[in-house]
Amino acid sequence: MTKINDCERSEADCKIENCSKKIRKMAKIIDGKKIAEEIRKEMKEEVNQWIEKGNRRPQLTAVLVGSDPASCVYVRNKMRAAADVGIDSITKNLPSDITEKQLLEFIEELNNDNNVDGILVQLPLPEHINERTICNAVSCDKDVDGFNEKNVGRLCLDMNALIPCTPLGVQELLKRSNIETFGKKAVVVGRSKNVGMPISMLLHVDGRNDTDGMDATVTICHRFTPPEDLKMYCKQADIIITATGVPNLIKSDMIKPGACIIDVGITRITCPVTGKTKLVGDVDFENCKEIAGWITPVPGGVGPMTVAMLMHNTILAAKKLKEKRNNMNI
Ligand code: NAD
Repeated sequence: MTKINDCERSEADCKIENCSKKIRKMAKIIDGKKIAEEIRKEMKEEVNQWIEKGNRRPQLTAVLVGSDPASCVYVRNKMRAAADVGIDSITKNLPSDITEKQLLEFIEELNNDNNVDGILVQLPLPEHINERTICNAVSCDKDVDGFNEKNVGRLCLDMNALIPCTPLGVQELLKRSNIETFGKKAVVVGRSKNVGMPISMLLHVDGRNDTDGMDATVTICHRFTPPEDLKMYCKQADIIITATGVPNLIKSDMIKPGACIIDVGITRITCPVTGKTKLVGDVDFENCKEIAGWITPVPGGVGPMTVAMLMHNTILAAKKLKEKRNNMNI
């Protein structure tokens, strides 16, 4: 296990104010794109083995309501990634004026279709549709986004569940980068039900139940955490995971030397001079990488992991459903 705070940067290169260590090293960039590629390769192999045993390909159905350009791009990328690992993928395009009742009926058909293993309802939904109602309507066995209340409840109780893809991707990044979490101080910035909250749950659990215990001491910060408190908590943290969508929220004077910084945030900003747009995270990457021990870039950090974990969840759902159908002799 790599130890946090184990720095070897030369004194001349060290930009840490009043640094007591003589030798330090630059932050290791956690390459989410590369790690996600490795995972996809492993999953391709897993799907091949599954098919060699006489099973059909796992099947993922994406439900896209309306034509929001960002949602269309997200769904297209997910479906491409699915095809790449050998998962059959179908996108169902539904009109933006579909009623909640019609959408519920459509989801029920997918729930009852034995050829469908995973259902993904791309969010956000049009305002007249209640997202919680829709997420709860997706069968928890096929809920590859992990947003159904039963899966959320199971995650909170540290029981086997389909876990939301971004939190699962963050956990996998930590594991594959050998970041020590046991007994470490972790700060999660952002408390949303789909991102910040499940990340906090995964980080604090112990290893005595169904899930991989990470055993960190977790502090959750949010929009009403006073900035001076946010700084104080972050400065003590061995691991900071930020998911706010607020660019430049985490600055270099807020982090502990050698800490691990995982940036989930993605915001598209426009350069006032060139008018060009680019994606940024919540972290002042350039300055924080001088101080951190590990850091994820944006783009190329958590984003690719989210897509990879969707594939993971689809394969898991397919296998569990097969087992369930076998047990029920269907
Ligand atoms: P959200 O708007 O639901 O939640 C944002 C959270 O940030 C809230 O809990 C809020 O309290 C907190 N927050 C806002 N301002 C803050 C401040 N000044 N200080 C501390 N906390 C503050 O958003 P979300 O769905 O949780 O997504 C968060 C970010 O993560 C967004 O940028 C989103 O695009 C990104 N995201 C990335 C991926 C990925 O795959 N990389 C996946 C999902 C979301």
